[in-house]
Amino acid sequence: MKALLKYPALWKDAAFIGGEWLAQSPHGRYAVCNPANGETLVELPRLGVDAARAAVGAAHEAFLAWRRTTADERAQCLRRWYELIVEHTDDLARLITLEEGKPLAEARGEMKYAASFVRWFSEEARRVRGEIIPAPQASQRIVVTREPVGVAVAITPWNFPAAMITRKAAPALAAGCTMVVKPAEQTPMTALALAELAHRAGIPAGVFNVVTVAGQDAPAVGDALCHDARVRKITFTGSTAVGKILLRHAADGVKKASMELGGNAPFIVFDDADLDAAVDGVMAAKFRNTGQSCIGANRVLVQAGVYDAFARKVVARVAALKVGNGLDDGVQIGPLIDTAAADKSLEHVADARTHGARVLHGGQRHALGACFVEPTVLADMTPSMRVAREETFGPVLPLFRFTTEDEAIALANDTEFGLAAYFYSRDAARIWRVSGRLETGMLGINTGLISNEVAPFGGIKESGLGREGSSHGIDEYTEMKYLCWDGLGA
Ligand code: ADP
Repeated sequence: MKALLKYPALWKDAAFIGGEWLAQSPHGRYAVCNPANGETLVELPRLGVDAARAAVGAAHEAFLAWRRTTADERAQCLRRWYELIVEHTDDLARLITLEEGKPLAEARGEMKYAASFVRWFSEEARRVRGEIIPAPQASQRIVVTREPVGVAVAITPWNFPAAMITRKAAPALAAGCTMVVKPAEQTPMTALALAELAHRAGIPAGVFNVVTVAGQDAPAVGDALCHDARVRKITFTGSTAVGKILLRHAADGVKKASMELGGNAPFIVFDDADLDAAVDGVMAAKFRNTGQSCIGANRVLVQAGVYDAFARKVVARVAALKVGNGLDDGVQIGPLIDTAAADKSLEHVADARTHGARVLHGGQRHALGACFVEPTVLADMTPSMRVAREETFGPVLPLFRFTTEDEAIALANDTEFGLAAYFYSRDAARIWRVSGRLETGMLGINTGLISNEVAPFGGIKESGLGREGSSHGIDEYTEMKYLCWDGLGA
């Protein structure tokens, strides 16, 4: 399997702590599997609480020196890391497809996106500024500096194995923080390859650590990492349920926390939309990563005047999607991450059918295997169905019909989530009106693709706290320190 890589040294079977590869654990090893065929890719040391604490220790020791480096030194380390990531994109993309399942072209797209954060924050490192505020007394000077928070723990999901790490690690390291990453149990190989490249880039030992943790140990290790007094920041991307647990951990130690949690994105098509553009948009917003994206369109709301025409066009596009192993040429839809994920999509389809939905296309498990689901289009959806309330996280596109703009807004906002929303319209007044009324952290207007490194990514309501990317992303890793200096004369 290693032979699939151009640089086999990126194929790791050990955790990375304090600049050393840790190949053994007293708790044995756990397997990482390819969701396309169930084959074991690698067995990694099953680290427990002790090793997690050791990683925090290494990060804490490294922090004492890393925080004293100049912004320019940190910028140069990140720039080298970026260049190495770009140089090894093909291998990193292959690792993503092997462990996560997404089509190789999409994995390459993810690597471009992941690398963009490292480049962006290599640039932002030198733009962390303080301020001087006019003092209330003539003898005083008031200065505000920005300092790194300290050791950050990142707990990341499997759906974007590289980008969800660089989006956190790059701003943390740029600000002068050090990090312990606990990648998802399904996708640690990409994280370990990134660690190898960070090491080669000259990022000092202990600044970036990756612990390999089996799924059943994630709660105990998460608890130990988050309750360690040396950790001052918790950053998480994943489900709202786990985010709430981690926020409780953060509360115990009054730690800074950023949370990028679940979504239930509405995708609204108004009568005045450019229908072909809206079809392109929904295909991207729904089927990217086989439907496993937290900002993926979960509910497609279409105005009555264009509903039937839109449905016809969407079905034609969905019917042409090529399903298969992500490494094969031309594949657009890969396996879901595991059988349980495929089961959930199929349960959502079954629930919708029971409550009166029509299946316009697909609707079954795919003949390729237990993790594969046919790309599916459902019509006549209603708000009480599970698809409307929960994140499906699979290749299921449900169509809801609405009549008025007010009705669309009410439907769109009828969820505890508020991560992303999308709508298509060519009426400028409507665009401003609807933009103001949708409860969401991010909004795609006449586009289905909104992710990039320059904009603030994040949600409102139960979709999260804090923003990643953009010039704001680095604020999450700094604290303000206010210096009140007196006795300076008038
Ligand atoms: P998903 O359902 O998409 O797998 P999760 O929120 O369960 O999303 O997982 C995201 C990340 O959170 C993974 O790295 C996983 O190992 C980790 N995780 C799951 N449960 C816990 C927990 N109780 N404490 C800390 N981390 C956890």
